[in-house]
Amino acid sequence: MIQENLKKIKSSLPQGVTLVAVSKTKPNGDILEAYETGHRIFGENKVQELTSKYEELPKDIEWHMIGHLQRNKVKYIAPFVKLIHGVDSLRLLKEINKQAKKAERVQDVLLQMHIAEESTKFGLDENELKEILEQLDEFPHVRVIGLMGMATFTDDKAKIAREFSLLASIFEKYKRDYQLTTLSMGMSGDYPIAIENGSNMIRVGSSIFGERNYG
Ligand SMILES: *Cc1c(COP(=O)(O)O)cnc(C)c1O
Repeated sequence: MIQENLKKIKSSLPQGVTLVAVSKTKPNGDILEAYETGHRIFGENKVQELTSKYEELPKDIEWHMIGHLQRNKVKYIAPFVKLIHGVDSLRLLKEINKQAKKAERVQDVLLQMHIAEESTKFGLDENELKEILEQLDEFPHVRVIGLMGMATFTDDKAKIAREFSLLASIFEKYKRDYQLTTLSMGMSGDYPIAIENGSNMIRVGSSIFGERNYG
C-alpha cells in the first residue's frame, strides 16, 4: 500500500510542491518501500530515530528534521541533516550555526511560526521572526530558506485555511528581502488546504505509511 499511496499523492500535487514523507515511528522496511519508487525525501521528529535511520538506510536519502529540536541534540544531526523545519528561537539558531560550522556545512533551516489559534503549539510571532531575520548575518553557517507552520488540529476547514493564509501572507511579506523560497505547511489531514493557500512543501505521514502506533 505504501507505494500506491505515495504515487497517488505525488501525482495529485501541483508542480513545485515538494513532498516530505514523514516516516516517524515506521520501520526501515517501510522507508525502503517508499525509496524503491524513487522517493528520496523523508522526515523524522526525534533525533535518535533520525540518526539511526540515517546510519542504516541509503545515503542518498535527504533527511528532514520536522519536530521540536532541543539545543543539546543539534550536534547529532548537524553532519547530515538536509533541512531543519522547526527553528523557533535565536538560541537554537545559534547552536545550529555552531554545530554546522564544526561540520563544515551551511545548514538550511525553516523558521517555525505560531499560526494555530490554539495555544499549545511551538513557534514565533511576526515580531520575533523579524528580530531573527535581522540578525542572520551573525550566523553564516545557517541559511534560512523559508517558514514552517502547523494549523490547529480541527475539522473546521475555514479555520485551517485562515491560519495557512496568515502564514502565507507573512511569507510573501518577507520572501524578497530575505530570499525565502520554501513554505512548509500541510500534513495528511490538511495538505490540500495548505496547497490552496500557497504551501510549496508538505509533510505527509499517515496518508502514506498508515496510522502510527505509539504503543
Ligand atoms: C507527524 C508530523 C507530520 C505528519 O503527520 P501526518 O498527520 O501523519 O501526515 C507533519 N509535520 C509534523 C511536524 C509532524 O510532527
